Amino acid sequence: MTARRPGGEPEDSQDRPGGMSRRQLLRHGAWFGGAVVLTVVGGEVISHVGGAAAAAADDPNALRFVQLSDSHIGFHGPANLDVTGSFTRAINQVNGLDRRPDFVMHTGDLTHLSTPAQFDQVHQMMGELHTGKVFVVPGEHDSVDDHGEKYRATFGAGTRGDGWYSFDIKGVHFIALVNTLALEKLGHLGVDQLEFIERDVAGLSSDTPIVVFSHIPLFAMYPTWGWGTDDATQALSYLRRFSSVTCLNGHVHQLFSKTEGNVTFHSATTTAYPLPHPGQGPAPIPLTLPAGALGDALGIREVTYETGQHDLAVRDRKLA
Ligand SMILES: [Zn+2]
Ligand SMILES: [Zn+2]
Repeated sequence: MTARRPGGEPEDSQDRPGGMSRRQLLRHGAWFGGAVVLTVVGGEVISHVGGAAAAAADDPNALRFVQLSDSHIGFHGPANLDVTGSFTRAINQVNGLDRRPDFVMHTGDLTHLSTPAQFDQVHQMMGELHTGKVFVVPGEHDSVDDHGEKYRATFGAGTRGDGWYSFDIKGVHFIALVNTLALEKLGHLGVDQLEFIERDVAGLSSDTPIVVFSHIPLFAMYPTWGWGTDDATQALSYLRRFSSVTCLNGHVHQLFSKTEGNVTFHSATTTAYPLPHPGQGPAPIPLTLPAGALGDALGIREVTYETGQHDLAVRDRKLA
């Protein structure tokens, strides 16, 4: 077991969490100024923010949820010839966890092309998850031709506006955002949703832990490729007074973590196919890995939180 602070001394290693070598992981940390301590254990990347991970993982009463992302059901290409099979493996992996998660959140790009058949399929597949509740936020692939109508018809019950909502479980306040419907180049929340966030948290005490889900990152991961949200700063300004804020996103199909002020951001990997690391290549197009290497780039994320702790423990696991 080794712990390294991103931006620290690089070392040679063949560990490939999420398809990223440890050297690359460190280099990315250095580029983006991350301050999250990442531990690589047998191919898992575990983020210890404040060292809460071990305690929360052992506590049967701790809040526990899983993040899945970017299943792209309906994708056909050499980068993954069987996205349905990969997503099935991810679901089986969730169902095989030591403890049943309180809920599972899918952070978008459920489908590849928003067809009715793809929505039916992914909806049915997620019905197989052994969990208390399944939540989703949409990706831009879930609204390719209809501003998210089919998405909301399938998954939008109980949501507001274009599909945003919030909920509370075990003392943690969760906010699920839609930043994929008014895309210019970057993700966008819009005035209505910003007002929703402001009102939504107005009555909460500042020590309430906040977790925000969105498809596109709420931090500037790589704006050149649209990996950021143009009005995220406004959204995060409403969360500035909270002592613990964690933002979990998809879209970039690779692991990345960083902390800015009171907010820690964790980009998740995918169950479908990897994308290049920021700036490595002309565009974020599906990467075809050498035979046998795909599973290492795909994965699921387990998150635990123990009441009274400051931080969430985030554990990224490769697809089994
Ligand atoms: Zn995606
Ligand atoms: Zn996306």
